[in-house]
Amino acid sequence: MLTLDKLTAGYGPVTALQDVTFSAGKGQITAVLGANGAGKTTLLRTVSGLHRPESGTISLDGQPLRKVNAEQMPALGMVHVPEGRGVITELTIEENLRLGGLAKGGKLRSEDLERVYELFPVLADRRASLAHTLSGGERQMLVIGRALMSEPRLLLLDEPSLGLAPRIVAQIFDLLRGLVDDQGLSVLLVEQNARSALSVADHGVVLNLGRVVADEKASVLAADDQLRHAYLGF
Ligand code: ATP
Repeated sequence: MLTLDKLTAGYGPVTALQDVTFSAGKGQITAVLGANGAGKTTLLRTVSGLHRPESGTISLDGQPLRKVNAEQMPALGMVHVPEGRGVITELTIEENLRLGGLAKGGKLRSEDLERVYELFPVLADRRASLAHTLSGGERQMLVIGRALMSEPRLLLLDEPSLGLAPRIVAQIFDLLRGLVDDQGLSVLLVEQNARSALSVADHGVVLNLGRVVADEKASVLAADDQLRHAYLGF
């Protein structure tokens, strides 16, 4: 569904992505893995129109996205959840979710809210509480829930596991798996936590210094001792 072809991007003299080519399949979780500075965040920001590539093509369902900017992404069915759980702490949980519904334009639908509450009962129970009362894991659920409010087909997730206990990471990844399997959502998952990411992903792409060094089924990557030791840290 999403295809990157020879994508090159950087910051002045710094090259962050060099000729990156791979596809993220429909109804799959594709993990983008690699160490600090490998280019993972730049890749997501470039896909979602927040960073201009120097060259290369990004296509969604075969259509090149070159001139599309970040504001148009929800209308195309793509939502980017950046690293750092940017919930608005002074607003309630429900107000944060409603903001997600506005991203796509048009009217907010109460059935979208109820759908998100069904997925995250912990948010439903506390819908009127201020978001600053949530734990790290609950905030991650809120930002994913907020992204789902615009009914995306493709979710771009940057390091959802960062700073969370393994039990909470497993819970969030299980939920993502359910969304993919039950609703046909596609996910591009950027993670430094390669072990957990590969346990939930269908496919994995490993970046090193901005280049793709592996593009394989997740089970194949997880079984490759040499690759794991060299690039994935487990
Ligand atoms: P991390 O997990 O630490 O965020 P990453 O794999 O996401 O790492 P990027 O943040 O995409 O990697 O960084 C790729 C390269 O681009 C690095 O060399 C980084 O120092 C550089 N870089 C990232 N952002 C900027 C910026 N705003 N200005 C200059 N260089 C940058």
